[in-house]
Amino acid sequence: MRFRWAARTHTGRVRGNNEDALWPRPGSGETNEILLVAVADGMGGAAGGEIASKTAIDTASAVGGSAAIRVQAANLAVLDEASRRPRLTGMGTTLTLAIIDPNGTVDIGHVGDSRAYLRRDGDLRKVTSDHSYIGEMMAAGRLTPEEAKNHPYRSVVTRAVGLESSVEVDTTELELQAGDRLLLCSDGLSSMVDDGAIAEILDGRDDPAEAARALVEAANAAGGDDNITVVIVDADDE
Ligand code: MN
Repeated sequence: MRFRWAARTHTGRVRGNNEDALWPRPGSGETNEILLVAVADGMGGAAGGEIASKTAIDTASAVGGSAAIRVQAANLAVLDEASRRPRLTGMGTTLTLAIIDPNGTVDIGHVGDSRAYLRRDGDLRKVTSDHSYIGEMMAAGRLTPEEAKNHPYRSVVTRAVGLESSVEVDTTELELQAGDRLLLCSDGLSSMVDDGAIAEILDGRDDPAEAARALVEAANAAGGDDNITVVIVDADDE
């Protein structure tokens, strides 16, 4: 398969700095070789969030191995970084990562409330579960989507990279088909723009770079409460 990708990040309209990190670096391109894409959303005071997400992305993109192994390596790297700089203690990050093989196989590793979506045949499917207070309450049927929208705990994650020596990593495998579009994003997109609107924006733009730009614009138009990061990959026959 051949992949066209686009990666974009924006501080948003409220926060003073961008604690998201991503892979590839912002831009766009195409390849018929193995492609790694990842989104990390850092948390922790005193610049901790920025360092945690950057450390996770730098590590996950540099080490070899499966998605799960890369997430575990990132976990240890963030923990190690924090242990050497006491003021960074407690920093952590989400990490959602996909290794996309030219044969179409996608290996996804995921911790936190960033997301991966698959757009296929008019259907937008979320392929990761949110490790968040809200996500778990909704999965248990104790909170409606409407109640979740403005919930004071909506940014509380229940699982993060960099807090303990081992982290439970969700893994998923997908088989891409020609015409599929994969989206990775931080909650700065998904908490501001609902799935229906995301699907509409993805459908209206053939060029992944244009689609990425439009998603960021939509999140900012909705308020831009948080840092916004999106990575899009289109799969096509060679
Ligand atoms: Mn965020």
